[in-house]
Parts: sequence; structure tokens; C-alpha cells
Amino acid sequence: MSILVVGSLAFDDIETPFGNSPDTLGGSSTYIALSASYFTDEINMVGVVGADFTDEHFSLLHSRNIDTKGIQKVDNGKTFRWAGRYHYDMNTRDTLDTQLNVFADFDPHVPEQYRKSEFVCLGNIDPELQVKVLDQITAPKMVICDTMNFWIEGKPEELKKTLERVDIFIINDSEARILSGDPNLVKSARIIRAMGPKILIIKKGEHGALLFTDNGIFVAPAYPLESIYDPTGAGDTFAGGFIGHLSRCGTVNDLELRKGVLYGSAMASFCVEKFGTDRIASLDLLEIEDRYQSFLDLSRTEG
Ligand code: AMP
Repeated sequence: MSILVVGSLAFDDIETPFGNSPDTLGGSSTYIALSASYFTDEINMVGVVGADFTDEHFSLLHSRNIDTKGIQKVDNGKTFRWAGRYHYDMNTRDTLDTQLNVFADFDPHVPEQYRKSEFVCLGNIDPELQVKVLDQITAPKMVICDTMNFWIEGKPEELKKTLERVDIFIINDSEARILSGDPNLVKSARIIRAMGPKILIIKKGEHGALLFTDNGIFVAPAYPLESIYDPTGAGDTFAGGFIGHLSRCGTVNDLELRKGVLYGSAMASFCVEKFGTDRIASLDLLEIEDRYQSFLDLSRTEG
């Protein structure tokens, strides 16, 4: 089934205790689309870039069969930029700089052929833009949404309006606490689910992810890796693997949601192994299945 991905396309300046990576291709929708591309051939992107986004960058997306007709290029503008620095434990980071650039005046237009997309993935981006995209979709089967503290703190009312129209919401633990106003994640989940999304995933970095549905809570571990180079995009890569799995199987029930969380976790574990998109742009299906199996083994007690 087809997936429409909207979110940022970016150049990131990344600093980690183990090295720096300036001018690195990133952005929420870039990571989501690359990750989901291992599960379906029908990925359509809507976004905006500046003159500094070259044919080479587009080629990388095309090499994964991603349709970029919905990406507008502003010839006299600059692509969104983000700079972040990771702390020693690699689990927390500071945003050093956010430059909206071409996103400041972006008016998203969803091409006619994308409007019947079954799965809509609203990647981390201004919640007002997320709604503008939703308004152009005919009858989505599932709306999945991600965000970050920048928008939770900067545009809380707009975000709440978006959430009323979202089926599945994905955020990390610190963002859940800020959005709900409660330090306890189980209580936070109840408060956030009451805002709209009946299915909620709270990511906890190296401690895995929690899935909340009407039928209870599912806990997935994170893959214990010895070398983590760059966590940037891990959350978006998780979302891409998760939605990719759902669109591949075409069914949304508790079992497939749980499997989706494990596929998302498997994809995220690849993402952090190299800087930027390097690792997730060059995977093969066999290694994804192997890692998925390793995830199952992590908590197996029988058989
Ligand atoms: P993640 O590590 O999964 O939270 O995603 C990191 C990506 O999000 C980076 O590639 C950034 O370019 C992008 N990003 C950071 N801040 C924002 C923002 N305020 N709006 C949209 N995208 C952002």
C-alpha cells in the first residue's frame, strides 16, 4: 500500500563524542522514506528544499524508488538546517541551531496522484503544515504522526489540533512528559491518547519503545549495540520501519502493530551504526530480516 511522507529534508551538522559530521543529508522525511523503502515500492514525498539540494541528493532517494515529484525546489532559497550535539551517553542531545529557511514560507501541495495514499506519515515538521497536508488527502487508512520538543513547546495548540486527526502518534519519552505535563509515562500515555491518537508509541532511546493501544502495553527492547556512531534520525528511521511494515502487510491490528515496533527498532539499530543516512541507504532485505530475528531472540524464553 502507498505511503505519503511529509516532513523535513535537511542538512545537519552533527557533533558526537566520537566525531563530527557537518553538512550531512538528513531531515525527518528523508529518514522515514529511506527506511520505509525496504518494505514498499510506493513511497511519495512532499516537502521543500533549496538550491543547495543537488541532483545527487535526489538520486539517493530515487535509488530507493522513492517518488520525489512532491518535493518543491526553491531556487533562491536554502534547505532547512539543523545542528545538534550529543552528550557522552549518546542518549541525550542539545539542539544547537535550527534554521527553517525554505520551510518558513512553505505551502505544501500534495500532487493529485498522491491524494489517495492509504498511509500518511506526518514526519517532524511544523504542525500547521502537517494539517495542511492532511486537508488534501482523500480518505487515509491510517495517519501516523511524529514531532519533537521544538514544536511541542513552540506550537502546542496547533499540535493538539493535528493530534485530533491522528491515528498513531510516535514521540520520545521526554517529549511525552512535556506534552502531557506528567512525569509518569503510563499516565502520560493516557493523557496523550485522550488528545486523539488511539495508538501511541513512546520511544526511550537505548531503552527501547513502548506501544500503547486499547488492548494494553507492549514493550520492545532496543538492540544492544557495541558501537553507536550517530543517533540522528533513529526516531524517524523507527517510524519508517514501523509504517513500512504496516503498509506491506496492509492490516493494522495488535499483532502487526507489535511486529511493526520490532521492525522499526531493527531499522533504527542500523541507522545509528554510521553517520547520517549512510547505513540505511545501503541495506539489504536479508540483513533486515536477520536483525528482526535477533530482536525476537532478545526476549525469547522458550523454543
Ligand atoms: P531524530 O533524531 O529522529 O529526532 O531526527 C533528526 C532529524 O530531524 C534531523 O535530520 C533534523 O534535520 C530533523 N529536525 C531537527 N529539528 C527539526 C524541526 N524542528 N523540524 C523538522 N525537522 C527537524
